[in-house]
Formats: sequence, structure tokens, C-alpha cells
Amino acid sequence: MHTDTRAVHLGVGYDHKGAISVPVYQTATFQHPALGRSTGFDYSRSGNPTRRVLEDGIASLEGGCRGFAYASGMAAIANLLMLFSSGDHLIFTEDLYGGTYRLLEQVFNQYGLQVTYVDTSDLEAVAAALRENTRAIFMETPTNPLLKVADIAATAQLAGDRGLLFIVDNTFLSPYLQKPLELGADVVVHSATKYLGGHNDLVAGLVVVKEEKLAEKVYFLQNSVGAVLGPLDSWLLIRGIKTLGIRLERQQENARVIAGWLTLHPRVQKVYYPGLPEHPGYKIMQKQSRGFGAIVSFEVTEEELVKQVLERTRLISFAESLGGVESLITFPAVQTHAEIKEEIRERLGINNRLLRLSVGIEAVEDLLADLEVALS
Ligand SMILES: *Cc1c(COP(=O)(O)O)cnc(C)c1O
Repeated sequence: MHTDTRAVHLGVGYDHKGAISVPVYQTATFQHPALGRSTGFDYSRSGNPTRRVLEDGIASLEGGCRGFAYASGMAAIANLLMLFSSGDHLIFTEDLYGGTYRLLEQVFNQYGLQVTYVDTSDLEAVAAALRENTRAIFMETPTNPLLKVADIAATAQLAGDRGLLFIVDNTFLSPYLQKPLELGADVVVHSATKYLGGHNDLVAGLVVVKEEKLAEKVYFLQNSVGAVLGPLDSWLLIRGIKTLGIRLERQQENARVIAGWLTLHPRVQKVYYPGLPEHPGYKIMQKQSRGFGAIVSFEVTEEELVKQVLERTRLISFAESLGGVESLITFPAVQTHAEIKEEIRERLGINNRLLRLSVGIEAVEDLLADLEVALS
């Protein structure tokens, strides 16, 4: 079955009384039928039926063997980092999500993880960063907020040749548009707060692992650390995932129109959208993704315009996050990438004129009218 069909049918048929919507198993613990016997569920940190439907569902959508649900995207990423030991070296995308960067620089640095940040859209740069103690490559594609595109299959080849674990943060596209495991990655991680949840109403993280041996280790860590997603949030996330395809179709179409409109606007200097044929990642995206996503970043001509745009948009809310049905606008240099030093930000292009738009499902004419007023 297609991804869309599987997404819509998450949880259908689970309930023995025939409920179409999977029940919220709001319980901490489970009765044992007899000594030494279990229903398959013992305690909700170790496993919960509502969470299980979600975990099996995301595994199926990403094409992995097992899924894991966490209290946030950061909890999911932290759990993955615990697979490594002091002295291990890892390679990360340089324009990484700010929270992941902070976790590495201010938390995991205490435990002796060595990290190199490289432009993962440049395979030679990735190869040049390899060391004897390199254990993994972790990348985002497209990146946040500059939408740089990396070749997943080529990176998987490089990682495979060296026996490295290859992890892809697939938050920006979701399995509806991109399936890194099918392209050779070992692990996919999501901030499900974004497209998978899709309604700006919950915080959640997901991990999908391709092979059982690694899944055992991830499960051990999920249960040992305990940053699991609760039953009610699991249920909300299942409900969100059901409409993933239809939301993304509309969001991408809106994004395509807005990106084209922005390129012609006199107060916009530069537009970053991988669906524009002049974008350097356009060809790779065509090869490895089913679409270009719905994040559009753009640079205005003057710094003063940033404040004006953020304060004047009515329909588009000035807020962090992305991926929901409501359009949001963010100022990455201050909101999401404040943890990254200014000189590094400038070099990467995350300057004080850059804005990031997460395009929602509103009528595109209304979004354009809002942007026109804000920019004029
Ligand atoms: C938001 C985000 C995260 C962190 O997820 P939370 O759910 O906010 O903890 C990680 N990676 C990317 C690419 C994100 O956009």
C-alpha cells in the first residue's frame, strides 16, 4: 500500500470493540494474567498500546523495522547520542538545528563525544572529516534554515564503506516526501512536533531504525532513560499523521507559489527554496524526494525590514516551529540559531536579514496579500 493509505489507516482495526480511532490507553501499568505471563504490556514506560500503534506506524511509513516515540525531538536525538561512548567522533551537518547544536556543545561535550561540523552537501568535505575514531554521520537535508541539500544515497555509501552509523534528521520533509532508509540510511529521527503532528499542538519525537540489532539497543535506551511520549500525545500524533499527505501537498503548492513571488519582490534579495530550479540542491531533490517541502527562507534587502515584516504580518504568526497547518514566520538568527556564534552564523548565511517561512494550508492569495503588506 502507498504511504498515504498506510498513514490514514494508522490504528484502524486495533480495538477489539471495533473503534475506528485507536483508544487512548491512559494507564501507567497493566495486570499480569498469571505469574510469568504478560499481555505484552507491563508498564507504560516500557510500552503502551497507543504509543505502540504510533511506533509501528512510523516504522511502516519510513520503511524501518521498528519505531520509537519520545517526549520531544530533542529527547529522541539525545537517546540516539547515548549509543556512543566517550572518545567517539561524530560528523554533523554544520547548519544544524540550534537545539541539536546546543545538546552537543553544552551537554554531550561533558561526556567526551568529539564532534566535527561540515557542509554535508559537499561529500568531499564529509570524507575529509573522517577520523579513525569516527562512528557516525548525522545529517539534516534539506537543512534549517538555508535548505542546503545533501545526497543521501552517496553519503550512505561512504558511511557503509567505513561501517559508520548513518542518521538522517528527516523533520523537514517527513516520510511522505523522503525516505532516507530506502536510500541507505540506518536511522531516521524526527521532531514530530513539525509536519508529522502538523497542527502546532504537540511536542514529540520519533526514531526509526532499519535493522533489528540496532533497534534492540535503541529500545534499551528508550526504556532506560524514559523520555517516552505519553498515551494522549501519541494519540494526537496518530491523528495528525493521518492527514500528512494532503497537508503536505497543499503546503508545498503554496510554498512553490510564494517562493516564486518572493524572487520577484524588490525588497527581497535572495530566496532559498529547493524547488526553484536555480537552487543548487534542485537536481538531488528531484532524485531523492517526492517533493520540495514547504519551508521558504528569504533575505530582505535591509536589516530594518526584518522588524517591520515580523510585526506587520497578520495571518502569518511570528513564532518558532514549522510544519503546521498555520503559516509561521521566524527570524533564525535570534529565534532558532541564537546558540550558534555570530561569526559562524554569518559565514553560513544565517545573517540578520534572513527570515524563514513555514508555509501552511491557507489560501495562497491571502498569504501573498499578508506578505505584500508586511514588505511594503
Ligand atoms: C524542531 C527540530 C528539532 C527538535 O525537536 P523538538 O520536537 O522541538 O524537540 C530537531 N531537528 C529539527 C530539524 C527540528 O526542526
